[in-house]
Amino acid sequence: MPSAPTKETTMTAAEASAAFDPDALGAYLFSNYRRAPVAFERGSGCRLWSTAGKEYLDFVAGIAVCSLGHADPRLAAAIADQAARLLHVSNLYWIPEQAEAARRLVQASGGAFQRAFFCNSGAEANEALIKIARKRGSASGRYEIVVADNSFHGRTLGALAATGNPAYHRGFAPLPEGFRFVPFNDLGALEAAIGERTCAVLLEPIQGEGGVYPATTEYLQGAERLCRKHDLLFLLDEVQTGIGRTGLMFAFEHYGVTPHAIALAKGLGGGVAVGAVLAQEEAANLQPGEHGTTFGGNPLAMAAVIAVQKALTEDGVLQNATAMGRVLQQRLEALVQSSRGAAISVRGKGLLLAVALDPALPAPKVVERCFERGLLVNAVRPDTIRMAPPLVVTEGEIDRAVGILGEALAAE
Ligand SMILES: *Cc1c(COP(=O)(O)O)cnc(C)c1O
Repeated sequence: MPSAPTKETTMTAAEASAAFDPDALGAYLFSNYRRAPVAFERGSGCRLWSTAGKEYLDFVAGIAVCSLGHADPRLAAAIADQAARLLHVSNLYWIPEQAEAARRLVQASGGAFQRAFFCNSGAEANEALIKIARKRGSASGRYEIVVADNSFHGRTLGALAATGNPAYHRGFAPLPEGFRFVPFNDLGALEAAIGERTCAVLLEPIQGEGGVYPATTEYLQGAERLCRKHDLLFLLDEVQTGIGRTGLMFAFEHYGVTPHAIALAKGLGGGVAVGAVLAQEEAANLQPGEHGTTFGGNPLAMAAVIAVQKALTEDGVLQNATAMGRVLQQRLEALVQSSRGAAISVRGKGLLLAVALDPALPAPKVVERCFERGLLVNAVRPDTIRMAPPLVVTEGEIDRAVGILGEALAAE
């Protein structure tokens, strides 16, 4: 069992939060984030302790990033050991840790992919997918990528241009051209959008930031079929859904499809910044000089990727995610039944779940009530709470979290 922090705090939580001054903390930073008035100084598993000494149950997990929870000894040791030997050498040289991380991910894909490219974030992984698609299309004058409304692919200009949320585009024109938007889960619209200039289709298997909306099986299978028929690349953004988050290593496995390539990041390094593209041989088309990134696949990030993969596949963390995903879904369904209409439905897969609320009950208000009661969750829509705990979450922690959410829904 992880132990509580040993550091003595003399202030009460109330005193500390009175002393907590977001203005002072924000004095030298950009104002581009809306932050809750709290800072954490330590974590263990699914628990976090604030600087005020208050304990929280973490069902945000750094936005689906901390797959092994906080302060996982396996990950910490792998990173410390690597840091003591070598952090970075650049891709001017071979990096054995990169080869091993690629081998493990390719193997984890069960034959779906043959090659990996490493970068540093989800946006960057999607940029690579866009370049892969355009390069392949360039031989036949095709460059257009069909993407979905309500999608999220990242904040860099290319990934932003592919993102189906006009609010994120505002003020940043002109964005790169060549993206065609269609309503999500509408196969007819997707087919109608494919034209002479189309080179690829890029979708999230579950729209995470958009509110945890899963694609239907007919939709993803139909999209794959259309891609084969029109010689397009079938690309999936698994930045949020990948690496065990949905109860399987990759979300595409739920759907019986095999994309040409996928983007990964978030949970891939368990909290260390790292992104990747996994691709079939034909989509691994970038040649020397055509793409790269200084930090991509450096030994530190690769040590983290390997440690996370080991924990998932060898220490039973993936099986835990599968089992606990079922438990969380079941508990949330029960909460919907008992909530007298405050909670309406549950969406998602595995440990990427959302609870839709009565629109009269603002989700940010519920998030705040959970926060006061020591549970971290976030509002992905004005009427939707997302739950994405670490993949090491236990049944006891799930019961506590759902109990707190129930109290928050019932509170006046
Ligand atoms: C978070 C996210 C991204 C962006 O990842 P960053 O690491 O923030 O660049 C892209 N796609 C999806 C599906 C995401 O959830």
